Amino acid sequence: MAEVVVVVFDFDRTLIDGDSDDWVVKEMGLTQLFRELRSTMPWTSLMNRMMVELHSQGKAAEDIEVCLKRMPLHPRVIESIQAAHRNGCDLRIISDANQFFIETILKQHGLLGCFTEIVTNPAFVDAEGRLNIVPFHDSASTPHGCNLCPPNMCKGLVLKRIQAADSEFRKRRYIYLGDGKGDYCPCLRLGAQDFVVPRKSFPLRNLIYNKQALIKAVIHEWSNGEELAAVLLDIIDRILIDENSRTEVMASPDNGCKTTPVSYP
Ligand SMILES: [Mg+2]
Ligand SMILES: [Zn+2]
Repeated sequence: MAEVVVVVFDFDRTLIDGDSDDWVVKEMGLTQLFRELRSTMPWTSLMNRMMVELHSQGKAAEDIEVCLKRMPLHPRVIESIQAAHRNGCDLRIISDANQFFIETILKQHGLLGCFTEIVTNPAFVDAEGRLNIVPFHDSASTPHGCNLCPPNMCKGLVLKRIQAADSEFRKRRYIYLGDGKGDYCPCLRLGAQDFVVPRKSFPLRNLIYNKQALIKAVIHEWSNGEELAAVLLDIIDRILIDENSRTEVMASPDNGCKTTPVSYP
């Protein structure tokens, strides 16, 4: 039943309360260098440069892993993700962090197996033991052409690809949770049957309310992990009740279309 629901999470400041890049920079003593270089290169290149620095200081990928494992994740958010997964929702992450950081944190909290897909900047440990972070989208050879998004990732295009897998007869219903500017573009692709769940007092929420007419999805705000979890589970419940009642109407002998597949108008 719940495979009709797709839950798309942003990662930093949404699925986790903090920012994994900031956490590693601060916890591993790179704040000064990070500030010096911030204006000189794009974010993903800067994070890769931070990894070069850690490697030159003799820090291994395992040390970064240890640091990431200490990053807190709200217990209610953990429970809500597990509950959504148990209910058969299709859970995905679209994030401008990187694969190594996200997978390490999710694994630590036993959540990695709950997600169908994590779309983010790839990361790998090379033969010398250094963690490399590379842009998801190679903007030098083929720019994605979206002026709302950073050159390395258009989350809207990623969502479009996920939506394209939906059956023509049965559109799945999307719940998009996010906080940042990069989350605005995918929200423009949501329909009236979908939900956008922006974090209060963060850029996404303000972008949405600046031109609310552009957003077709139903909006629900949240401010902390407890609220995020409650809002998410409430929306999933509402969708499932809604879907069940549609199925009952369609299956009712009175309306004479028992064998007709359920579909949206
Ligand atoms: Mg974020
Ligand atoms: Zn975009």
